[in-house]
Amino acid sequence: MIRNVQSPSPAPPVSRRGLCFVISAPSGAGKSTIANALRAAEPRLKHSVSLTTRQPRPGETEGVHYHFRTMDEFQRMAGRGELLEWATVFGRGYGTPRAPVEAALAAGQDMVFDIDWQGHRQIREALPDDVVSLFVLPPSLSELERRLKGRGSDADEEIARRMDAALAEISHWREFDHVIVNSDLDRAIFEARSILTAARLRTTRQTGLAEFVTGFLG
Ligand code: 5GP
Repeated sequence: MIRNVQSPSPAPPVSRRGLCFVISAPSGAGKSTIANALRAAEPRLKHSVSLTTRQPRPGETEGVHYHFRTMDEFQRMAGRGELLEWATVFGRGYGTPRAPVEAALAAGQDMVFDIDWQGHRQIREALPDDVVSLFVLPPSLSELERRLKGRGSDADEEIARRMDAALAEISHWREFDHVIVNSDLDRAIFEARSILTAARLRTTRQTGLAEFVTGFLG
């Protein structure tokens, strides 16, 4: 009988270290929507809450969307090595607190990171065996422009600035393990989830496999 693949199954007998799923994209490509959908589908996937020195936007909550800090506090934490990576984006500081990431990985929990290309480079260098990365492209330049026009002020100068920043981010696409084009959101979510699933199943990621297989081979 063919089993229903949707049905919940018992936990696999092999444990593994958690992984860092880094998602980067130009603003307007749909990165946050994809990351949110992944987390909704995978309750054990933790979101890495970044530090930022920018002001909260309406609807953003301290400790949920970001840890909002002054530039002084941000620099102190960076100086003490408490940030796994950090970068300046649009003149604001952004960084990933180190301790929650190390705790999650050791506990076998996966984390998703919504960070830019600079953060991806640093985190990859810090944790070379634990990072799997994805770059999300918009379906076209005109669609990107249309999406960016819908955000905040519509002043030509502001739109041109957002467009320049988006193109600068896109120029780093080759540095990522995987790239998807987000022309259909459901498909993009399916693809992102497939990448995460495959990364979890890498032979080298699963600890205790040798002991498990010994049970078969003696
Ligand atoms: P926003 O201010 O719109 O939330 O984010 C602006 C940019 O900063 C986005 O490209 C986002 O991915 C990036 N970002 C957010 N958190 C971090 C972080 O902790 N580190 C780095 N390097 N970039 C971040």
